Amino acid sequence: MSILTDKINDSNVIAVTGHVRPDGDCVGSTTALYYYILENYPEKKVYLTLDTPPASVKKCIDCDVITAPDSLPDKVDLFVSLDSSTSNRLLEAAVEKFNSAGVSFVVDHHKTNIGFGDINHIDADASSCCEVLFELLDYDKISVRTASSLYLGIVHDTGVFKYSSTSKRTMEVAGKLLAKGVDSAFIIDTSFYEKTWKQNKLLARAIDKAEISEDGKIAYTVISQADLSEFRCGSSDTEGIVEQLRLTEGVEIAIFMREDAANVYKVSMRAKTGLVDVSEISVLYNGGGHSKAAGFTAHGNYDEIIANVISEVNKRWTV
Ligand code: 5GP
Ligand code: MN
Repeated sequence: MSILTDKINDSNVIAVTGHVRPDGDCVGSTTALYYYILENYPEKKVYLTLDTPPASVKKCIDCDVITAPDSLPDKVDLFVSLDSSTSNRLLEAAVEKFNSAGVSFVVDHHKTNIGFGDINHIDADASSCCEVLFELLDYDKISVRTASSLYLGIVHDTGVFKYSSTSKRTMEVAGKLLAKGVDSAFIIDTSFYEKTWKQNKLLARAIDKAEISEDGKIAYTVISQADLSEFRCGSSDTEGIVEQLRLTEGVEIAIFMREDAANVYKVSMRAKTGLVDVSEISVLYNGGGHSKAAGFTAHGNYDEIIANVISEVNKRWTV
């Protein structure tokens, strides 16, 4: 029993949601909780409301169960938000129902989360929201389908068990999920490493346009709307670009900017060793994240945004 399963027991109508443009950890944690409730509490009504998941994740998780937020019942007893560090990142049409639910419950692992629910279970030391959720569920009631969602989320948020957020506990949780019969190789290859041809072409464009500054300690690049349409790519096709910059020898800070509309950029930042806490910079722009992986949306012209972000990085080198 946990505080979450207590609240599930007390509720009849339950809704589950995550942040907009959901990544693997968000789709993994929300579908895991949805299927967990569906399978173990057949007498209860459970809804999953979520923005469109990435195609790569849909190859491993059945996402056909998603309900539009407008179609949720007016009265929700328990509304659980997973992997979202603020209510600003929930689907707009879901926010009011989240706030007016009998109990709003936040499960997350972002250190920038100040706790926007009635109950907040936030563990900033956890690798992923899926790792946090695992500990709130009854192990005996986790099916292979639920375990696969949780495993996928951990795989994605740890970069396949390699980021520094990967702890002994992360590996123990992953081991317990494997014991449920999860097909690890399939999930890792199909949802994480496999790229479509157009994604590879887009990555090539991003690397071609990349620049370095501060003697190679900062690498940055941009994908414009014209680049996206040239390769017929959508916003989720840029996944992995910032990681490729981060993996460059000598690079400490990687910055990727995707133009989402004229003068609107989604910015992703990564820090290799933690000499700069990039979440501090994302918070300046009303974004959030972790010390080594953070993001935000910036309005304005590309040259000015990148110059300002680099100057904020330069204010913060710890050595
Ligand atoms: P990514 O760069 O992969 O989009 O995100 C890196 C981390 O920063 C993730 O943990 C993500 O949740 C967080 N993040 C990215 N964009 C935003 C944003 O606009 N607002 C907030 N609060 N967090 C963000
Ligand atoms: Mn996450």
